[in-house]
Amino acid sequence: MKHATSSPVAIVGGGIAGLSTAWYLQQRGIDYVLLEQAPRWGGKIFTEQVDGYGDAPFLVEGGPDSFISQKPWGAALAREIGLGDTLIGANTQLKQTYVLHKGRPAPLPEGVLMIVPTRFKPFVFSSLISPWGKLRMGMDLFIPPRRDAQDETLAEFVRRRLGNEALDKIAEPLMSGIYNAEADKQSVLATFPRFHELEQQYGSLTKGMLAGQAARQRANGAGANGGAPNGKPASLFVTPRDGTEALVTALRDRLTGDLRTGAAVAAIEPEGAGYRLHLDGGAALLAEQVVLATPAFAAAALLRPLTPAAADLLDGIRYVSTGTISLAYRTADVVNPLKGYGLVIPMSERRPINAITLSSVKFAHRAPDGHLLLRVFFGGSRSPQSMDLDDAALYAMVRRELDALLGIRAEPLFHRIYRWRRSNPQYDVGHLERIAAITAALPPGVHVTGSPYRGVGLPDCVKQGQDSAAQVAERIDRGFGG
Ligand SMILES: Cc1cc2nc3c(=O)[nH]c(=O)nc-3n(C[C@H](O)[C@H](O)[C@H](O)COP(=O)(O)OP(=O)(O)OC[C@H]3O[C@@H](n4cnc5c(N)ncnc54)[C@H](O)[C@@H]3O)c2cc1C
Repeated sequence: MKHATSSPVAIVGGGIAGLSTAWYLQQRGIDYVLLEQAPRWGGKIFTEQVDGYGDAPFLVEGGPDSFISQKPWGAALAREIGLGDTLIGANTQLKQTYVLHKGRPAPLPEGVLMIVPTRFKPFVFSSLISPWGKLRMGMDLFIPPRRDAQDETLAEFVRRRLGNEALDKIAEPLMSGIYNAEADKQSVLATFPRFHELEQQYGSLTKGMLAGQAARQRANGAGANGGAPNGKPASLFVTPRDGTEALVTALRDRLTGDLRTGAAVAAIEPEGAGYRLHLDGGAALLAEQVVLATPAFAAAALLRPLTPAAADLLDGIRYVSTGTISLAYRTADVVNPLKGYGLVIPMSERRPINAITLSSVKFAHRAPDGHLLLRVFFGGSRSPQSMDLDDAALYAMVRRELDALLGIRAEPLFHRIYRWRRSNPQYDVGHLERIAAITAALPPGVHVTGSPYRGVGLPDCVKQGQDSAAQVAERIDRGFGG
């Protein structure tokens, strides 16, 4: 048997969840080895710099472009690794979201928080929802709450409280869109637990949202748009000035443990009180505890010989494949019809793309002066057929869509396509119960963490890394391993 190096903790997977686990173990003084199969760190986080079109480069995001500031763990990590001052907010002047309605972009009425209208006038005059649809949404104020803790699909929940149109025009494109999910399968408890809480606490989403809004305004003494204490409107989305990959680079530079790329874990077997990890290529290493920060199907493959029950549950987490294509233009060549930075597309519109973000309007420093960078989302459960197109056909299709939806006909300066196969875990109804069952079925000293489990957003993944580090430390404190 080959000699194997040994470490108290082996972390498998070097995306944001694995990197965060390493960071928070390091803060606790616990040694670790971090193993990533790819030649680069970051998993789905990928920022590409494209030079040659002016004083500044284009910054093209292949995966996430930002993270939500209301969940504090992302910004907290950024501050800890020295990026606090570099965080920039999304453009608050042009924050209008558009929803495609009968083939044309229609503004989401001002004051719609999540799915709930909190301002009367813009909602009443909006063309997005029919008069009957508006009345039906208003009925949320009177419909009695469902008093149980049962999970239900987002579609069931929204239909029950706000009606079909709110689902079709707002909840489905915006809230299922974030998760690349199908509203008819998506768990409301796993993806929007706040809705359930508001219904229980206030008996109505609208009453709950209005109460929350009033409390926020009292707390910060600011205007109606969710302002910050300094009077500037707070941005819901933030990102490092140099792109999301700056988080990865800063973490990598600050991690002092044993970091290995090109290190795919092929098998894990019990050995003594811990585990032997076999790497592709024949190397092996010993660890007292193992944190699996891989996609769920990869964790399932590694755990199957140890615990088929956990492996079956992990394999039950569905994945869909998605992609983005970014296109760069000279501003003078395009007439941009949106006074905001996002267009979402309801499934009922039956387009081969899911959404469009004007990246350089959303964030500063994404394009040189006089240029526009936009990106188009495709694939998932809304337009799976687009994943199968080859690059040339995809590019041609996206150009046709940009023409049809936004009137953009100009030839881009360049474009970049990123395909993320089996990339988006689906939180179907019953997801939280599944996760509890997985956790209960894991062998001693094995942990799972990251986007398949308790939140897909970057802050959720950071939080899960933090929690995994705490679980590892707790086991060491109890005298098992480390
Ligand atoms: C197109 C797109 C846009 C997104 N936009 C946003 C956004 O704007 N904001 C936001 O907050 N979130 C966004 N997300 C979600 C977010 O990016 C992901 O949920 C998050 O990055 C996942 O991190 P992770 O560490 O859980 O997994 P991953 O990034 O998938 O990392 C897992 C790692 O494990 C490695 N691995 C797998 N098997 C093995 C093995 N056997 N041995 C060693 N290594 C292995 C993989 O190579 C990979 O690097 C987006 C996702 C996509 C795809």
